[in-house]
Amino acid sequence: MEEGRKRVVVVGGGVAGSLTSKLLENAADVTLVDPKDYFEVPYAALRCLVEPAFSERSVMTHSSYLKKAKVVISTAKIASSTQIITDDGEIVPYDFLVICTGSSYTGPKTRPERIQEYWKANSKVVAARSILIMGGGPVGVEMAGEMVTDFPDKKVTIVTASSRLLTFLGSKASDKCLKWFKSKKVDVIFNDKVNPDSKSGSTYTTNAGMKIEADIHFWCIGKRLGNTWIEESDFFEYVRDGEGHLKVDANLRLLNMSNVFAAGDITDIQEIKQGYLAGKHAGVVAENIKKLIKDPTSTKLTCYEPMVKAMGIVNLGRKTAVAQLPFGTFLGCLPAMLKGKDLFVGGVRKQLGLPK
Ligand SMILES: Cc1cc2nc3c(=O)[nH]c(=O)nc-3n(C[C@H](O)[C@H](O)[C@H](O)COP(=O)(O)OP(=O)(O)OC[C@H]3O[C@@H](n4cnc5c(N)ncnc54)[C@H](O)[C@@H]3O)c2cc1C
Repeated sequence: MEEGRKRVVVVGGGVAGSLTSKLLENAADVTLVDPKDYFEVPYAALRCLVEPAFSERSVMTHSSYLKKAKVVISTAKIASSTQIITDDGEIVPYDFLVICTGSSYTGPKTRPERIQEYWKANSKVVAARSILIMGGGPVGVEMAGEMVTDFPDKKVTIVTASSRLLTFLGSKASDKCLKWFKSKKVDVIFNDKVNPDSKSGSTYTTNAGMKIEADIHFWCIGKRLGNTWIEESDFFEYVRDGEGHLKVDANLRLLNMSNVFAAGDITDIQEIKQGYLAGKHAGVVAENIKKLIKDPTSTKLTCYEPMVKAMGIVNLGRKTAVAQLPFGTFLGCLPAMLKGKDLFVGGVRKQLGLPK
């Protein structure tokens, strides 16, 4: 701790929290609180299932990219307007708090354990002849894309409760994606659900009574927001009813709070929840905290501009992707060149000051 420096506590070491910590560590005494000792590029998680060695670059310890910030490996349990308390009872006081708990976390605590987990999952994928994917959103679709690309002989089935794939994008993207899956002999079942507990032998039964043969399944439906700890905190009133996001102003501060910010999926910003936007939030939050450190009464804080039109690139394995961009919707190898090969891992590593 350097005397006189402001204390910034960042809760959550995902996309928004890791970058916020990195951007602020030279300007303040930063403490990152995360239940695991690593940050993982989430976009690469599905590639790691088919190519576990990929995780060597996509999973990085917080200490590898944070040179000055302190890392507390624990879960934030409760927060007041001056400090947070972790699950282990550690009290971490702050001048500025940044809440980046876009999803809750229950996985392994250390990087080697996480990488090992990918190798184990991969051996199950390799051994399976048939794979059931529950969910037709970006995660389910990318998962199926990776599976059929690297293991074209395996039977892949997707079951989705929606009437089309990728509902966060327009129907053009859904149609192109479905056509590609059909060409790869992937079965896609719409408007139905499967309960994993319905499995008997290697047969799953959907709610509509359809039987699906699969050796393994992957659950790709939604993520739980990491907001339960906030509900027990002084910030309870900021948690929106229903979806449970945090209400932020244009400067990404909790409404009417001068020193508490939020970034990433936890915010109530009206735009799709995406990692590249979480990174933009991190940039705005870091800029504003730097301004407030210099001048606590500053009225020239940076405003965040939400992305009003949904854009996205969804990978279908290594060489194909479907992209919805401002000038059109495409499927093919060109959009895949933007994301497919490296899944943005090199770019994220560079942002964090690590070799690509
Ligand atoms: C498989 C997959 C693929 C994706 N692909 C893309 C893509 O291609 N492009 C894209 O833009 N987006 C993609 N996304 C979405 C993107 O990953 C999220 O939008 C992004 O991770 C949100 O960042 P975040 O920092 O808000 O939350 P997260 O990255 O989810 O991080 C939340 C962090 O909070 C921590 N945490 C939770 N509770 C607590 C607590 N109480 N105390 C301390 N720490 C806590 C967790 O451990 C975690 O580290 C993908 C998501 C998934 C799952």
